[in-house]
Amino acid sequence: MKNYSRQREAILEYVCSVKTHPTAKEVYDAVKEKIPNISLGTVYRNLSELAKSGNILSLNVGDGFERFDGDISTHIHLHCEKCGTIIDISPVDFKTVQFVKAAEFTPCRVNCVINGICKNCAKQSNK
Ligand code: ZN
Ligand code: MN
Repeated sequence: MKNYSRQREAILEYVCSVKTHPTAKEVYDAVKEKIPNISLGTVYRNLSELAKSGNILSLNVGDGFERFDGDISTHIHLHCEKCGTIIDISPVDFKTVQFVKAAEFTPCRVNCVINGICKNCAKQSNK
């Protein structure tokens, strides 16, 4: 039990310490340095439980990987389809967003991704 919560603690700590929106494998590679005997399955299980309980966000930007975000404030993700960069636009109060208001909808969890091309990649293709 003690070991179990230590593992979860390390996983949560790592996900909250980075802005990279890591995959489970990336979390595993980082946490393994602290807890060498941790398994990829344990990392997967803990990530999905942490996401379910609302401690982290599970994110799908359309690149085929489930990603995780320690920033649980309401924000939008801009995902560059060329280089894979994910930019946080935060925070956004969705209660005040026009189309949400117009639908008389009360937002409680936002998982919003805009796919496109980032500034750097756009510059490169213009050269
Ligand atoms: Zn890019
Ligand atoms: Mn984010």
